[in-house]
Amino acid sequence: MASEALVIDKDALKRKYAEERDKRLRDDASEQYIRLESEFSDLATDPYLPVQQRDPVTDHVTFAFVGGGFAGLCVGARLKQAGYDSVRLIDKGGDFGGTWYWNRYPGAQCDTASMIYMPLLEETGHMPSEKYAHAPEIREHCARIGKQFGLYEHALFHTQVTGLEWDEDAKLWVIETDRGDRFTAKYVGMGTGPLHVAKLPGLEGIERFKGKSFHTSRWDYAYTGGTPEGAPMDRLADKRVAIIGTGATAVQCVPETAKYAKELTVFQRTPSSVDVRANEPIDEDWFAGVAEEGWQKKWQENFTAHFGMGMPAEDLVNDGWTDLAKRIRKNMTKVPMDQWTPEKMMAAFEDADFEKMEEIRQRAAALVDDPETGEALKAWYRQLCKRPCFHDEYLQAFNRPGVKLVHTDGQGVERITEKGVVANGKEYEVDCIIYASGFEVWTDFESRTGFDPVGRGGKKLSDHWGEAMRTLHGLQMHGFPNLFLVQATQGAAFIANYPHNLVDHADTIAAIVSHMESEGLSTAEPSAEAEQKWLDFLLTGRGNALSNTECTPGYYNNEGKGLRERDKYNLGHPGGALAFFSHIDAWRKSGKFEGLEFA
Ligand code: NDP
Repeated sequence: MASEALVIDKDALKRKYAEERDKRLRDDASEQYIRLESEFSDLATDPYLPVQQRDPVTDHVTFAFVGGGFAGLCVGARLKQAGYDSVRLIDKGGDFGGTWYWNRYPGAQCDTASMIYMPLLEETGHMPSEKYAHAPEIREHCARIGKQFGLYEHALFHTQVTGLEWDEDAKLWVIETDRGDRFTAKYVGMGTGPLHVAKLPGLEGIERFKGKSFHTSRWDYAYTGGTPEGAPMDRLADKRVAIIGTGATAVQCVPETAKYAKELTVFQRTPSSVDVRANEPIDEDWFAGVAEEGWQKKWQENFTAHFGMGMPAEDLVNDGWTDLAKRIRKNMTKVPMDQWTPEKMMAAFEDADFEKMEEIRQRAAALVDDPETGEALKAWYRQLCKRPCFHDEYLQAFNRPGVKLVHTDGQGVERITEKGVVANGKEYEVDCIIYASGFEVWTDFESRTGFDPVGRGGKKLSDHWGEAMRTLHGLQMHGFPNLFLVQATQGAAFIANYPHNLVDHADTIAAIVSHMESEGLSTAEPSAEAEQKWLDFLLTGRGNALSNTECTPGYYNNEGKGLRERDKYNLGHPGGALAFFSHIDAWRKSGKFEGLEFA
């Protein structure tokens, strides 16, 4: 599979990519999906922990945070480190973890290296056991952060925020929940996750299926047997199982399910690109050697730097992500300096991508015994059109007896019957249907979170955003004092290692809160001018990834519909992620907090 051996007919490849994309375009785009919560309430319940009865809470906290995932944990930890004890995290799940609370499907593991993905490793002294840690270890790490920083004390679990309103007289936020709570907080953070609302394909007959069905984020071990820790799913031994979807989740849970099910049929609309994972245990001696003070930040910045303008001398993480970045860079540097035009650079990028994807396709053909199945597992699009996947057992799972791929050639499953799944005009009878169909991404913030914050003068966040999201640094909004949004868009927008965005915002929040508390200030919010200036600055940069309609449809490009007016500011710092992290670091350290108005 040496890259030199590859001969690529670029024009033919581009035609093939376009043909494959066209098969998948649908008029209903994102509307093809339905919500797990609304349509199938029995499928949305928490299979992991029972809901505890408790009295409504009516007190006051300094900082309330919506979401008990990485965002809330990082912010909570930084606030505690800064000396603020009255911090409350609120989460729909029964414990901390966010996405890692819900996603306990077999085989779940981080797809970015643990050393940079798992937050606060240095602060907690935890050494990840593997280069890519499995979900139970990550969930345990969330609990570790919660315990170490005393975040359990005020936390509210199995609780959904239903209302958030600014009280101008009291200069406080009033928070209401579905458990009857009504309490106040001086500051509020929102880290509700970009992908936390599970979705199902809106298939005809989906409610009529008489067997068992669940979404991967509600894996029912009572039905399958086994545990998230890897105990055998022995109850599947006499079951015919269908998995619908072949995205990053399916790539991880198919190999495990294939080991135990009597029959497993995987229904594919678009194959994922599945490159080498090369997971390995982390050696204690090696870890002791690298874990000097400041190591995790150094590692995170080194990883992030591979996706920026410069060329880092060393590659600490050294994996499929950085390999991709290095190949692109290498190709670009082949262009003579006097010919550096945006077009030439994009062509060099494209060449690196063609080569990489050809290798990945050859990998599928080489690892899958049945040539037809191997061919069907080849991904015909550029690698960053969809979440790149890495796995060393997924493709091989299709060599097991009893495991079958139903490739629908872009058309997807047609419908569900009482007995099973219909695809390519044929009914497949099964006992269990597992939906690996993903999560809502670019739907309205208020519809995903279940509340619409009401800021100064009764203005709703949805009205403030109107046509498009508006923030300073992706973190604060004009008219919404002391409210922080902890996510990536309009900041670093760094999706290859999402937690890097979160831990950095946590640093900023802690700096702002510390400044306000030491100066005796009541409110902070960006001025309207500062917010607009930041948005104008974002527009000066690279193109909006959502506009890439040449890509196969998916949540990266609004299911092929491309950029809508409301997405126009779904951007990151024009200089790239590292440029944002440098900018915000200087902004924090200056102590001036330029663009914020304090009172
Ligand atoms: P995705 O949205 O990536 O995948 C959903 C899958 O369902 C796609 O393969 C989609 O096909 C398929 N699908 C939808 N409707 C139909 C239909 N009617 N018939 C057949 N197939 C259908 O969801 P995932 O849960 O896999 O991943 C979501 C994101 O979560 C990832 O992109 C990644 O960011 C994150 N993730 C991270 C992990 C980690 O860090 N370890 C692991 C897993 C996920 P099509 O492609 O054609 O739309």
